[in-house]
Amino acid sequence: MSILAREQAGGVVPPIQAWLVIALGLASLLTFYVLLRCARRFDIPNWKLALRQAQFAIVFDLALYAVLDTLRGAMLIGLPVVIVFCAFALRPRQTVVLSACAIAGLAATMTAMVLSNPAHYPLYTESVYFALTTFGMVSVTAITGELHRVRGQLVNAVDTIGTLATTDELTLLANRRHMNHLLALEESRRAAAPQHVCVALIDIDFFKAINDKYGHAAGDAVLKSFADVAGATLRAGDTLARWGGEEFLLLMPDTRLDEAVAVIERMAARIGALPLAAVDPALRITFSAGVAASLPLERFDQAIHRADEAMYRAKANGRNCVLAA
Ligand code: GH3
Ligand code: MG
Ligand code: MG
Repeated sequence: MSILAREQAGGVVPPIQAWLVIALGLASLLTFYVLLRCARRFDIPNWKLALRQAQFAIVFDLALYAVLDTLRGAMLIGLPVVIVFCAFALRPRQTVVLSACAIAGLAATMTAMVLSNPAHYPLYTESVYFALTTFGMVSVTAITGELHRVRGQLVNAVDTIGTLATTDELTLLANRRHMNHLLALEESRRAAAPQHVCVALIDIDFFKAINDKYGHAAGDAVLKSFADVAGATLRAGDTLARWGGEEFLLLMPDTRLDEAVAVIERMAARIGALPLAAVDPALRITFSAGVAASLPLERFDQAIHRADEAMYRAKANGRNCVLAA
């Protein structure tokens, strides 16, 4: 727009045309700025806004090309730039259509210019501009297609890495690293809005004997069955993580101690009745658990330590029971 204003000041572009195009540019800048700011509030998807911006940018670029005089060729670089900006927001097919429309629009604009004033817009010059711009557009469109494909792979890889970093491979429960992250989140959430939070340590009883009698693979199958059933008894908001070996940590936000004990006793009843037919139809498992209500201003590792002590008391008490810290 500043190039256009300069050319108008130099007298090579008529003022009405120049100011009309500049006014259109400024109005659209303002409109798109407001739309970008409000996109979330009005629920406008990113791709839709990007498409409208790209369509407008192409039309505006062609308008500048038609209105400018000596420097009009410089405007053509804007067309591939628009396509590059669409690489991440649009699907490859949308980018191809947009690119084809831009090339068709350029052909129509140049044809109109050559026909209306062949002395000022020589056919040879316009043809060279057109050929080079089309070459640039086709190349950039092909590269954005490839970028889109690579980006898809990257998104999938990040997804997989996220799952691997947070999930226990055997039980598919949250792993210890993820539970530590959730505990840190819960600690800061609770600092902002105090509430009752309970933690429980759950340890399968005599698990080594299962490994010794049926083998390690059978032990793994038991751990999986335990995780499936124990996980299914949880309420929304509770998280069960594999804390290590045959030991699990249960985080229960917004829960009083008596409610937490009730949750674990319900879990104990289901686990006690769990048939493990693939290992031995007669085999049943139990667990011992220690539950602690996290005190205000107490860090979670202190509450977990108290739950651990309660769990060891449960073991010493003869196992298959839930004790509160
Ligand atoms: P307690 O009732 O006192 O908890 O006795 P326990 O036998 O359950 O406890 P102990 O700590 O003596 O043994 C735990 C066993 O769990 C030992 C270890 O080999 C086994 N274990 C740990 N992780 C895995 C695993 O991923 N798969 C299998 N199959 N076994 C595991
Ligand atoms: Mg055990
Ligand atoms: Mg153990």
